[in-house]
Amino acid sequence: GGATVLIVGAGPAGLVLGNLLLAAGVDCLIVERSSRTHVERRARAGFLAEATVRVLVDNGLGTGLLARGTRHDTCVFRSEQGEFALRYGALGREEAHTVYPQQHLVADLVAEFLRRGGDLRFGTPVSEVGGLDGERPWLLAHREDGTPYRLTGRYVAGCDGRHGVCRRRVPADAARPHRRRHGVSWLALLVGTPPALPAVTYAVHDRGFAGHMARTPSVTRYYLQCEPGTDPASWSEAALWEELDLRMRAERFGPLRRGPVLERAVVDLESDVLDPMQYGRLFLAGDAAGLISPSAAKGANLAVMAAETLARGFTAAVHEGDEEPLARYSATCLPRIWRAQEFSHWMIGLLHAPAGDDEESRFLRALRDSRLENLRTSRAHQHAFADNYVGV
Ligand code: FAD
Repeated sequence: GGATVLIVGAGPAGLVLGNLLLAAGVDCLIVERSSRTHVERRARAGFLAEATVRVLVDNGLGTGLLARGTRHDTCVFRSEQGEFALRYGALGREEAHTVYPQQHLVADLVAEFLRRGGDLRFGTPVSEVGGLDGERPWLLAHREDGTPYRLTGRYVAGCDGRHGVCRRRVPADAARPHRRRHGVSWLALLVGTPPALPAVTYAVHDRGFAGHMARTPSVTRYYLQCEPGTDPASWSEAALWEELDLRMRAERFGPLRRGPVLERAVVDLESDVLDPMQYGRLFLAGDAAGLISPSAAKGANLAVMAAETLARGFTAAVHEGDEEPLARYSATCLPRIWRAQEFSHWMIGLLHAPAGDDEESRFLRALRDSRLENLRTSRAHQHAFADNYVGV
């Protein structure tokens, strides 16, 4: 069996790509390791940029997010010096975010792909990818009982996330990884209460960063910077709330809404770009091609934008015999990815500094405070922030 385009992974990248290919009449199939229930419940991102929303809506994939997403156009920074709000929706290009949990978007994309008659195989892990430098690349997929079978196609789209198999098949001399581990970790919490604050709130504190982000009317995401290597279970709920109150300065700015911690995970801030995002007949998109630290909430957005570029490339190659857009796939995506990386990296320095009492830690804390002050007071700086914060 097989299809013209074999897509590995049913995350935002693979599902957007699959839907756009079906709409363009390009034969494809998606294989996904996990069950449908699992991917439709996996809570991760939530902030969609306007360019992302445009891609989804223009391709008939925006019904759910238009009906249930909420518009966010303001973020707030808290520090020892006080609090200030940036209404980025009225700055720069005047774009806002649509907050729509990633698992809802994934569920919409799955439903639409199936409605369009797509072949989507859940519970089907891919263990091997090969023939990438030839004309007939293949995948080794596994049925639920473990039986392996081969799928052959003209192209493979590696949309299998950060730990996928596709990227590992790119030979070391064919693409260069660019990587930075920031040495900063966040404890990511999902709490079963309505957002306590009207806007995304970033708290800069010498004990470490803390953040508050809306998700749905009944679920809020909190981030709490923690020591790298922390076991997420090591914090009691009481200790978590005490630390959140302290860093968010609840005494000064108002209480948070306590509630059950539904999920907790430690995220190590890490950035990684593979150049090019392609090898032979294999094209990587989303987290499979690179990671971006979650400090500026760009990962899912970059995944959707790459999928759209890749869909155009496959469509031109299959329908018009024009391989040129596909050959330019990496070159088209990378400037956008680097711009997002630069901003996200800058934001890490805005939100974090080491706590130590040595001269370098003191230097970095003073830089962080000055960066925040610059953002608070300079209108030009605020416009540039807005362009980058919502842009992809
Ligand atoms: P994924 O969503 O990881 O999908 C890959 C899929 O491939 C998975 O379903 C996986 O099961 C499947 N797969 C893997 N290996 C195989 C295999 N061998 N065979 C078959 N299938 C396989 N981004 C934002 O834009 N904004 C945010 O606010 C944000 N917050 C985040 C918070 C957290 C806690 C985390 C972890 C991430 C966050 N991100 C955010 C990042 C965002 O979630 C990812 O960038 C996004 O999911 C990437 O989509 P993807 O389709 O490339 O990969």
